Amino acid sequence: MAPEVLEVMLPFFKDVYGNPSSIHRFGGSVKKYVDTAREQVAALLHAKPSEIFFTSCGSESDNTAIQGFCRKHGSRSQLVTSVVEHPAVQNCCRAVADNKGIPLHEVTVDEEGLLALDALKNIAMDEHTLVTVMWANNETGVLFPVPEIAEVVKERGATLHTDAVQAVGKIAIDLEKTPVDMLALSGHKLHAPKGVGVIYIREGTDIEPLIYGGHQEHGLRAGTENVAYIAGLGKACELAVSRMAEENTRINALRDRLERELLTKCKGAKLNGHPRLRLPNTTNISFEFIEGESILLLLDEKGICASSGSACTTGSLEPSHVMKAMGIPYSLAHSSIRLSLSYYTTEKEIETVIEVLPGIVDYLRRISPFVKE
Ligand code: PLP
Repeated sequence: MAPEVLEVMLPFFKDVYGNPSSIHRFGGSVKKYVDTAREQVAALLHAKPSEIFFTSCGSESDNTAIQGFCRKHGSRSQLVTSVVEHPAVQNCCRAVADNKGIPLHEVTVDEEGLLALDALKNIAMDEHTLVTVMWANNETGVLFPVPEIAEVVKERGATLHTDAVQAVGKIAIDLEKTPVDMLALSGHKLHAPKGVGVIYIREGTDIEPLIYGGHQEHGLRAGTENVAYIAGLGKACELAVSRMAEENTRINALRDRLERELLTKCKGAKLNGHPRLRLPNTTNISFEFIEGESILLLLDEKGICASSGSACTTGSLEPSHVMKAMGIPYSLAHSSIRLSLSYYTTEKEIETVIEVLPGIVDYLRRISPFVKE
């Protein structure tokens, strides 16, 4: 978390503890902080504050968009998504389609993780169709061309939701120019706390709530507001507005250096995902014939934290659905790891990884039964 974010949050656990929905002064004085946060999030997305609804996380935001749309459109609903979505979207779409018996199309990607846009264009859509595709992939960082997708979807009178959990704070998003109808984001991806999110809902987009109850968030998301976390998320969005361009240029250069060195120094190393159409902070590399999980354990011993697949699927022996969908061979998919940089990643840390990782790969290849050298 950004120190500035923590600073903003602390008073809400002590002196500024009122409930923003209360009439009394103690509560009423807190409401303005929720309003400010709403404005800060809106500013980052170039949206209207009235289009910002706070939730408990990115998964809730995705579920609100998908389930809320299908509840509104009932049995006439149709869902279109991609094969590489985060489980928050993929599992939600599959469950809704199964439970309601509505059609679900999962559009494929190519070997670099790019969406098969022509396949999307070939799907018949109407006003009861929700297209839900991610802006940036959480395993490879590969970007989907959301502005172009929005054009296709809008032409057909359908609704577009984008899971932008990985994209917000890392690439510029302008919802005045990009006609998406709904967008999900999550606090911990931009130096705000875990456990707070937003669903942006463009004015005129009509969905049913996921959580019924009180009138909070214009009745769209009942539940007493988590003011501290909401204020923290607002501050993180304000910081992103001022820092994003500079920080991402710095991170991009560090990521490229890390990647270049690893691909040169490590035997059997191969980049996964499109080399250019990607977030600036993510790299996903396979090291042929060795287990990604073994690399992670040895890196962890050296104080370097990395992931294989998405954190949510770690622990499973199956290669990630993203790698499978990209047609990455089993031996490479199993050996992939993901390194992500943040606003706080230093040059020194990157140098440490460049120093340590090739030795780990060499060691694991020496003991791998699959390497014949
Ligand atoms: N969507 C994407 C692309 C993600 O990467 C994540 C989390 O990592 C989520 C959705 C879910 O967000 P949350 O963990 O806040 O529910």
